[in-house]
Amino acid sequence: MVRLIFLGPPGAGKGTQAYSLAGNCGIPHISTGDILRSAVTQQTELGQKAQAYMDQGELVPDQLILDLVRDRLGQPDAVPGWILDGFPRNVSQADFLDRVLQEMSQTCDCVVNLDVPDEVIVGRLLNRGRKDDQEDVIRNRLEVYRKQTAPLIDFYEKREQLETIDGNQALEIVTAELHKLVDRKKQR
Ligand code: ADP
Repeated sequence: MVRLIFLGPPGAGKGTQAYSLAGNCGIPHISTGDILRSAVTQQTELGQKAQAYMDQGELVPDQLILDLVRDRLGQPDAVPGWILDGFPRNVSQADFLDRVLQEMSQTCDCVVNLDVPDEVIVGRLLNRGRKDDQEDVIRNRLEVYRKQTAPLIDFYEKREQLETIDGNQALEIVTAELHKLVDRKKQR
């Protein structure tokens, strides 16, 4: 049973690492960014509402995302575990997640904080070239991260749930450290 939250600035490598780790553990990788991007592509009602926020690097309003996450965690494939990537992204989302997990009698094993310095991040994102990876939008996403999401580092640290991994290392090394961490959690 593995239940993990991935925390870290945009471009930290959360998506890549969460995807491969989830595949390895046979559990779903739940990325709110991916869910939202696919809603935008399909121009669903959610996508139409979310698009402008995403284009500017702002968080989409909580009301668009909370029920969606609750539903996704309640799907049968998430029974054996899950990796949350991009959620929670502010304290009210974290409080909401606490309530949902309590309702489902689940607990999160740990919160992985993938740590990468800002100057590295900007370079990585400019190279990636997604639609919201233009320099001004990137700077805004970093600011939003610092103001709204980074407080969660303290939030989970205080509960002794936080594990920080240096994301400024070769991809394979980060992967190896994550596997070690998961093995350690499983043994508990
Ligand atoms: P990155 O980590 O590279 O910023 P994501 O794919 O996680 O990318 O998110 C892309 C965008 O989707 C965010 O900038 C934000 O607008 C929106 N988004 C994703 N997850 C959330 C969330 N939990 N709450 C609010 N907005 C979100």
